[in-house]
Amino acid sequence: MTDADTGWQTARIAAIVPQTAEITSFFFTLERPFRHRAGQHVDLRLTAPDAYQAMRSYSIASAPDDGSTIELSIERIAIGEVSPFFHEVAAVGDDIELRGPLGGHFVWRPTDAGPLLLLGGGSGLVPLMAMLRQRRQQGVATPTLLLQASRSWDDVLYRDELLADAARPDGPLLRFALSRSAPLRPEDYGRRIDAAMLSEALALLPAPPAMSFICGSNGFVNTAADALVALGVPADTIRTERYGG
Ligand SMILES: Cc1cc2nc3c(=O)[nH]c(=O)nc-3n(C[C@H](O)[C@H](O)[C@H](O)COP(=O)(O)OP(=O)(O)OC[C@H]3O[C@@H](n4cnc5c(N)ncnc54)[C@H](O)[C@@H]3O)c2cc1C
Repeated sequence: MTDADTGWQTARIAAIVPQTAEITSFFFTLERPFRHRAGQHVDLRLTAPDAYQAMRSYSIASAPDDGSTIELSIERIAIGEVSPFFHEVAAVGDDIELRGPLGGHFVWRPTDAGPLLLLGGGSGLVPLMAMLRQRRQQGVATPTLLLQASRSWDDVLYRDELLADAARPDGPLLRFALSRSAPLRPEDYGRRIDAAMLSEALALLPAPPAMSFICGSNGFVNTAADALVALGVPADTIRTERYGG
């Protein structure tokens, strides 16, 4: 069996960019470039000298049109096995085994009907960012709202890019839910995501969302999805991606 059969290829770390205290972006140059869809992920596989292997999934943050380099943003889980390796050991020029693109359910296409509701918890913003980037690059005007839950203003991944996107004429509506600090903008929230917040978010859209994408830790996804269903959003329009925890 060749590598092409298994889907594994070697990807080289081309750049490492810290984004927040706990999340760093890694740009990988692909040996065999592919075109992914916004929302998809890849698997990374690490092999120790004694042949022990560890594999984890990471969503692709870059828009599909960004060429032979993909961006992954990895949150450091202090007690974890793989994410601390990337934060503390991985260096530009390292070769990493990568497989993908993977996943056919948690994907958005620019031609999909709107409105579009995006709910991100912490690093769960990553696949939603690929959707927002593609939406921007292709000039899509679908009414869109991102509600992003993070610990504090400085913990919001891609914060400045999100603010700039939201300031465009056809940019998405943007709300932050900050659990460990007061909101800096009047429209944001200083608490964890809850049903009242989601009810206000739904009211900002011109019509009920045709699609909702929720991504983050298990607890975040369960809370957000249950609340949306209780607010009358049809379950079959809600797509979820659980990162663990
Ligand atoms: C489809 C998919 C896409 C993903 N995309 C991303 C991504 O873009 N960025 C990213 O940072 N992670 C992403 N993840 C999570 C990632 O795959 C790993 O689970 C994560 O990096 C932790 O791996 P680890 O080896 O460091 O920790 P592990 O050794 O696997 O876990 C150590 C401990 O931490 C807990 N834990 C694991 N993940 C979390 C979490 N998110 N929050 C709280 N506790 C946790 C575990 O339950 C365990 O007790 C994704 C997961 C999936 C399934």
